[in-house]
Amino acid sequence: MSHVFPRHTKQLPPVAVRGEGCYLFDSTGKQYLDASGGAAVSCLGHGDQTIIDAVKAQLDSLAYAHTGFFTSEPAETLADMLIANAPGELDRVYLVSGGSEAMEAALKLARQYFVEKGEPERGRLIARKQSYHGNTMGALSAGGNEWRRAQFGPLLIDMSHIDPCYEYRLRAPGESLEDYGIRAANLLEEELLRVGPETVMAFAAEPVVGATSGAVTAAPGYFKRIRDICDKYGILLILDEVMCGMGRTGSLFACEQDGVAPDILCIAKGLGAGYQPIGAMLCSRQIYEMIEDGSGFFQHGHTYLGHPTAAAAGVAVVGAMLERDLIPRVRMQGDKLMAALDARFGQHPNVGDIRGRGLFQGIEFVADRDAKTPFDPARKVAARLKSAAFKAGLICYPMSGTIDGRRGDHVLLAPPFITSDDQIGELVDKLSIAVEAAL
Ligand code: PLP
Repeated sequence: MSHVFPRHTKQLPPVAVRGEGCYLFDSTGKQYLDASGGAAVSCLGHGDQTIIDAVKAQLDSLAYAHTGFFTSEPAETLADMLIANAPGELDRVYLVSGGSEAMEAALKLARQYFVEKGEPERGRLIARKQSYHGNTMGALSAGGNEWRRAQFGPLLIDMSHIDPCYEYRLRAPGESLEDYGIRAANLLEEELLRVGPETVMAFAAEPVVGATSGAVTAAPGYFKRIRDICDKYGILLILDEVMCGMGRTGSLFACEQDGVAPDILCIAKGLGAGYQPIGAMLCSRQIYEMIEDGSGFFQHGHTYLGHPTAAAAGVAVVGAMLERDLIPRVRMQGDKLMAALDARFGQHPNVGDIRGRGLFQGIEFVADRDAKTPFDPARKVAARLKSAAFKAGLICYPMSGTIDGRRGDHVLLAPPFITSDDQIGELVDKLSIAVEAAL
């Protein structure tokens, strides 16, 4: 009998024993094509010897040193690499162990920034419905996914959640994409005026929404308008690129393609590519200097901050992405994946939308394509898709989301950047088997 506490207690998972390129193998020898990198993690695929060697070498010299006493060479190198490629005024890197920790650090830093600035009344975060920012209490409070929040209501912090920019469901008939983007962004200003702009510290959003929505990109102009509103009211812009960052959408940072730079940026997942648990919060020089010239101490921290072995994996992963020219490859393979999905599912009566950017793509499933009617929740479409795909030897990431009762079932695809043309074909074939079995 297992003593592991599994995620799904009624459906025990197989034992994973080996990873090689885009495939995982379980203890029975069954092979799975990893079309979601787990949860958008394994961007380099499995068993990458360069990253393995870098981690081993770091373990040989220094596995761990506490950041209360030391910095380390890999942490310094990784911070330099990230800042050299980061947009806007981002200047400092705070290394953590994952995405939720990065978001917690972002929320605490935004708050402390305004306390040190002499604006202590600023404590509210405005975020978006149908978003996901992590599972720790601050990050879960910021997230707007109703299902994930439901039973933890009494533990959550009061924050605002505006509608996301989700053109498939929320664009009005006849409205241009550009007009919709501006209208969706203006909801931030409306909420600021409703709650009092002087009480708000920041707005947080995922540039491309992942887990809760299935690769929903923003309409053109949306984030530029968001940036303008943040500047007008003196609030910080926090972009959560935990899932969509690190090359996943075809640029190292997803926000580059929206033409904006945040004050605080969170990354994780692809930063360690699964070889080590690591995340990071990047902040602007202005924010850092407020702390440096003020109290001189960021009142936050965890034992494994700046973990040298995790940082060494990050250095090797970012190095591999840049040296192997993987980001242009993401754009190229992303175009091929989108074309293959369109060809196979574009006319499917239960496919409402195919969307995404780079190797970060999603399909939204509906009961009625013309009316965009969602499936009855009792049919558990996302869960059925997951198990049908798994049975067919495909790892993908199906999920259901809800905004004010409007439900959507989608599947998220985030395959490794090394995915070949043949593997795109295999992905689409296996997904097709799963869709036919599940719907
Ligand atoms: N933010 C986003 C956008 C995510 O997708 C996730 C995880 O899926 C998180 C934060 C939380 O990251 P982690 O699971 O590493 O704590």
